[in-house]
Amino acid sequence: MEVSTKGKLAGTVADLRTHGIGALLVYCESHDCGRKGSVSLDNYPDAKPLEEIRRAVYCAACREAGRNDRNLDVRPEWPTWAGPGRVK
Ligand SMILES: [Zn+2]
Repeated sequence: MEVSTKGKLAGTVADLRTHGIGALLVYCESHDCGRKGSVSLDNYPDAKPLEEIRRAVYCAACREAGRNDRNLDVRPEWPTWAGPGRVK
């Protein structure tokens, strides 16, 4: 699987589920915004291309303020492990 953190997202929802990932993290990179959130993949079918989800996401705060609401960094939300030998 190849998932780029900038630009296009390759693969499908199924690819992320294989890795135990259940959400996408979204960072708004617009000036003075900096909001972040996550998009749950629970409601998407396995075959859904990640790129389609990425294109559908926007920043509500920026949209409301009339700024560019698509200046987003979208990346898979990797699970964090806190078990022995792992740094959280
Ligand atoms: Zn924003």
